[in-house]
Amino acid sequence: MRTRFAPSPTGPLHLGHAYSALLAFDMAQAAGGAFLLRIEDIDQSRARPQWEAQIYDDLHWLGLDWPEPVMRQSDRMPSYRQALAKLDAMGLLYRCTCNRRDIEAAVSAPQEGVEPAFGPDGLIYPGTCRNAGHTDSNAAFRLNMAKTCDLLGNPVLEFSETGPAHKGSHRITPDDLINRIGDIVLARRDMGTSYHLSVVLDDAAQEITDVIRGEDLFEATKIHVLLQALLDLPTPAYHHHRLIRDEAGKRLAKRDDARAIAKYRADGASPADIRRMLALPRT
Ligand code: GLU
Repeated sequence: MRTRFAPSPTGPLHLGHAYSALLAFDMAQAAGGAFLLRIEDIDQSRARPQWEAQIYDDLHWLGLDWPEPVMRQSDRMPSYRQALAKLDAMGLLYRCTCNRRDIEAAVSAPQEGVEPAFGPDGLIYPGTCRNAGHTDSNAAFRLNMAKTCDLLGNPVLEFSETGPAHKGSHRITPDDLINRIGDIVLARRDMGTSYHLSVVLDDAAQEITDVIRGEDLFEATKIHVLLQALLDLPTPAYHHHRLIRDEAGKRLAKRDDARAIAKYRADGASPADIRRMLALPRT
């Protein structure tokens, strides 16, 4: 078994991150496998070296270790470019110049009163630029989902899930992909990649067998399984864990610095205290 923890260095690690990391570490340990770390820093406008340093420090303090060197997404741009070029050569990508406001306007305009549909990335893209033939090299790249399903022979894809909320085997149909996910962005404007493309290529490069992460990414897994099929990569097993919420039931976000691991440390908590708060067994 090979598991990983893949934080973005855009803020302090909070209790929810600690839960993900400890769970992935414990599962690998229990199976005699390996726990890997990956720094997800493709968004260079938000990534900061001090947050990356704090991640290493907090994780070591929690008692975790991992093989060096740590994979950093900012070092992997050539791999992302190569995969994009492959998909482009297959005729599956198109340039999109829409911003969020354009998409909202296009989705709400034609059928007044009809609720716009949401997918894993927010509003399902209405296809405005699909046949526009944009060539602006700065624009985003979207995946033409109908064409992709067609090229793959309209497959029913599968993945297995061991997390508490969705335990079992899951099927993804072409209808799910086309109508409930749609033409997702594979390379963001000015970035040359996206979370979805990078995470799929990196999990494969790190030979991850079990992806352990928060419940909020369960729907995005369908995109990842599709990309694995398209790029001839193995599909790992998935484990989406419960989200750690505050007393008011609100999901913890990075801006909730009150729940930062660094804050608990400063207040004198021990790693065992953190495990107790998360209802994780002591090691
Ligand atoms: N980098 C992502 C985050 O900080 C995690 C992605 C994943 O585990 O697939 O939420």
